[in-house]
Amino acid sequence: MKVIRTIEELRTEIKHRRSSISGPVGLVPTMGYLHEGHGSLMQRAREMAGTVVLSIFVNPIQFGPGEDFETYPRDEERDLAVAQSNGVDIVFIPDVQEMYPQPTKTKVAVSELTSLLCGASRPGHFDGVTTVVNKLFNIVKPDFAFFGMKDAQQVAVIEQMVRDLNMDIEIVPCPIVREQDGLALSSRNVYLKPEEREQALVLSKSLKTALEQLENGTVETAGEVRELLSRIISESSIAVIDYAEVLSFPELTPVENETRLADSGSTTIMALAVRFGKTRLIDNALFQAKEGISHV
Ligand code: AMP
Repeated sequence: MKVIRTIEELRTEIKHRRSSISGPVGLVPTMGYLHEGHGSLMQRAREMAGTVVLSIFVNPIQFGPGEDFETYPRDEERDLAVAQSNGVDIVFIPDVQEMYPQPTKTKVAVSELTSLLCGASRPGHFDGVTTVVNKLFNIVKPDFAFFGMKDAQQVAVIEQMVRDLNMDIEIVPCPIVREQDGLALSSRNVYLKPEEREQALVLSKSLKTALEQLENGTVETAGEVRELLSRIISESSIAVIDYAEVLSFPELTPVENETRLADSGSTTIMALAVRFGKTRLIDNALFQAKEGISHV
């Protein structure tokens, strides 16, 4: 496994591997502090690509003022061990100066999909994401890029960008990896105090209950699901709901309260963002209308 810190060296190495090693190039973009969720992306990439590139970059332009850019958890040594054990070929770890030698005057911005959910509470966040993902795509020129459904809105936004700009890259969405007790893995889970960690289980519990009740017909409409999600999350006395929304996926249009999800003819996402103390957690689940098949 090669560890590369400059764009020039990465380009040279990828050119070399393209000419000497068969198979496509797969890119797994991350901000590091790797866990098994990231690991599942690397494993999927390993199955599909001859060269697997993992990028680790805490991207300053996707953090707003007062957010955790400075304190975002970092552990390069451990990240390299995780990358190695998941069969990564190249780890790209640029510093901020390498990626932004001067403040960028060019940004890539996707409209509409970015104005709601996390885009509403984190203005400019998705412009930062799509801009850095573009830069990484231009540097690595991957055939496949792997993203977790943990950040489902990010998947929808990036797929839209790839379609709109005719990028010759296949986006591969990967399922959410959870702890045994249901909490979705996240680098930010280390911020949680023990009581917050315990109470954060209301997120997965609310999604699981909503899916069960949709499948057995106890709840049917988007309004009932919204109400159910909020009620279960509120069982935690410290949970502060940012949003508990029901939208079509991947279009991300809000579903009207009266709509019966099983008859809606499309995939629905139940998307949550909830604060526990200073930590904001997100989670989601998809409900498939036609076959009534669900994924958590
Ligand atoms: P991050 O380092 O948080 O920016 O995440 C990098 C990639 O890993 C993103 O595509 C995330 O959606 C994905 N990811 C993070 N947590 C999980 C998880 N629990 N399950 C699956 N993918 C995840």
